[in-house]
Amino acid sequence: MANSRAHWRDRMNTETGESVPNEDSGRHPHGTNVRVLYIAGAGRSGSTIVDNILGQIPGFFSAGEIAYFWQRFIVERRRCGCGEVGTNCPVWSKILTQIGSPGPDIASAMVSAARSATRIRHVPSMVAPGGANRLHAALGTQYLDRLSGLYGAIRETSGSRVIVDSSKFPGYGKAVSSLDGVDMSVIHLVRDPRAVAYSWLRQKPQPDTDSRSHMMQRRARTVAPRWMTANIAAEALFSRGNTPYARVRYEDFAAEPRKTLDNALQRLGLEQLPTGIIADGHAELDTTHTVSGNPSRFSTGRVALRVDDEWRSALKPKDSRVVTSLTFPLLARYGYLSG
Ligand SMILES: [Zn+2]
Repeated sequence: MANSRAHWRDRMNTETGESVPNEDSGRHPHGTNVRVLYIAGAGRSGSTIVDNILGQIPGFFSAGEIAYFWQRFIVERRRCGCGEVGTNCPVWSKILTQIGSPGPDIASAMVSAARSATRIRHVPSMVAPGGANRLHAALGTQYLDRLSGLYGAIRETSGSRVIVDSSKFPGYGKAVSSLDGVDMSVIHLVRDPRAVAYSWLRQKPQPDTDSRSHMMQRRARTVAPRWMTANIAAEALFSRGNTPYARVRYEDFAAEPRKTLDNALQRLGLEQLPTGIIADGHAELDTTHTVSGNPSRFSTGRVALRVDDEWRSALKPKDSRVVTSLTFPLLARYGYLSG
């Protein structure tokens, strides 16, 4: 970490305190580039199953929602996708050792730094000229060092070429993409907000911890504006510029998973899904070592893929109207008005 810290310090402009591009740009502080396939968008968009399937491609590592690593693995000691408590998992315990076995104090500091600097209200500042420098200054060198060290350790320990990260938060994704030596590609996953609202309304078991029996629930009128801002932010941050970007509708993935993912992978310049992973409406999933996500991340073997449109009959008309009216501009843009 000492080299890494010096590396970041060298990038700071001593007069303004802002980081500046350096000649080393494009090389990870640990000496090897880290390629991250980031799934961006709103919560409950179906990212867990997409992450798990992409992780079956040889050389790809399905890491789940890495943004939650500090809080849920270190502070709360929740379970990895393999079923072990994260700190005891054979993969993540090695990653933890490699980054110096940070304790709950450091983990909490990482959570606070990300919360204050990557919130959705800071996205306009990130998009404006000089945004990456402002974001780096807000996050601080310690945060950037540790985050850079984490992604480097995941790559080295997993031996993967591509880390699949389904954290989804647009601002956090921007922070990862701006780390020196990280090459990011983005799948912007969108899902009909009425299906998303229905998912948040349902009570779902949370098997990754003993301290919480169910996943968080939210009301439709809370979900709708969050869905709007997450998707607007994902487009603003990633759909223009140099980051390879592919927007994928969850419904298209559910109807034609192989074709939809292969199209996205092709647009991103990544290899196609190998044969045998998806066939006849099923996916064949090996164990993954994922941080957080939908409880379906614990499913292995033959997993059914199907269009889940229960919301059409089960979402209350009042909730459907609220979500439709609050998300109208993007509903039209993403082709959800005709359904
Ligand atoms: Zn594991």
